[in-house]
Amino acid sequence: MASSILSDCSSSATARLLPFHRKLHTQDFRFHRSVSIPLRPPSPTSSRSAASRFWSLSAVTPVAMTTDTSAKLIDGKMVAKQIKDEIAGEIAKMKDAIGIVPGLAVILVGARKDSQTYVRNKKKACEAVGIKSYEVHLPEDSTEEEVLKHISGFNDDPSVHGILVQLPLPRHMNEQSILNAVSIEKDVDGFHPLNIGRLAMQGREPLFVPCTPKGCMELLHRYAVDIKGKRAVVVGRSNIVGMPAALLLQKANATISIVHSYTKNPEEITRQADIVIAAVGVANLVRGSWIKPGAVVIDVGINPIDDPESPRGYRLVGDVCYEEVSKIASAITPVPGGVGPMTIAMLLSNTLDSAKRIHNFK
Ligand code: NDP
Repeated sequence: MASSILSDCSSSATARLLPFHRKLHTQDFRFHRSVSIPLRPPSPTSSRSAASRFWSLSAVTPVAMTTDTSAKLIDGKMVAKQIKDEIAGEIAKMKDAIGIVPGLAVILVGARKDSQTYVRNKKKACEAVGIKSYEVHLPEDSTEEEVLKHISGFNDDPSVHGILVQLPLPRHMNEQSILNAVSIEKDVDGFHPLNIGRLAMQGREPLFVPCTPKGCMELLHRYAVDIKGKRAVVVGRSNIVGMPAALLLQKANATISIVHSYTKNPEEITRQADIVIAAVGVANLVRGSWIKPGAVVIDVGINPIDDPESPRGYRLVGDVCYEEVSKIASAITPVPGGVGPMTIAMLLSNTLDSAKRIHNFK
């Protein structure tokens, strides 16, 4: 039924997905909100305390009844700024105390415009908080050995505490062997199989958690969303977002279902969730009819769609139909301004954590 109703999320809008969509990588408003998760505005905390809260904060606020008719905005931009301010403060203290600043090395191969933009943004974010950034830009036709040589150099460089290989790599390179070459102690992206393996195991902790899912969890924690014992659905199961997001929710004691491209009844499954994380890469896939009244919805998707009215000719939308879902959920992240800014903030946080661990600075 939802797809037959004309809205900004109608199938025509979805179909005009632009080709540069990387894998970067009304419904009937019968629903009346019966349950909602009340949200506290995020409170500033130090990133150390945020990091240590990360595993232990299972829930602080119970689900309660509400009669609100539109979702609260989970403001990723604002929370990311708070976190960056906290990180800048900690870096200044570290520099004063031991004369060390964290260092982040980024390896970029090829000339993809989107990758160049991400790397530039990461560099700017590093500068803003006092992290020293190192950049290697290799041509598209570089060999895998050249990339491995740079990784090895950064692995051995004591001024580098985090190494990030910008994905996607050119097709002729083996992404897995390149990511495996990053020292687990400097794997600030959290993609090393040992880090992912530890994330999946009871009683084990990874050194780093992948930035985007970590950012989703941080938003839930900072808005005091109760996770323990709740039902959560993650739409998407990629190695970089969906799968680690599901593992993190499980570690926080939610009961998890994962919806993927072979799932037979995604709408019905997703509608059972108190918390939904959507990381699919399909514009507006998650419609209002997929959402249980009062659920909390985190939209990871970044999908450019054709928009002749925008000066750029396109605009960004998420995997969730904001227009519909914001009338049913109790809280929702916008796109842009939701998870995106959190990803970079978590990269900075992982880099700081790494430097502190390496230099035994508390
Ligand atoms: P991938 O393409 O790697 O994974 C997409 C996942 O969605 C796959 O598991 C796939 O299932 C599943 N899927 C695809 N179509 C459907 C469908 N119709 N129904 C149910 N499941 C489906 O994408 P990423 O995880 O890398 O990225 C997802 C989105 O998040 C993208 O829009 C990306 O741009 C965005 N993103 C945003 C970030 C941020 O910082 N905000 C960071 C990273 C990504 P299957 O496994 O069966 O193929």
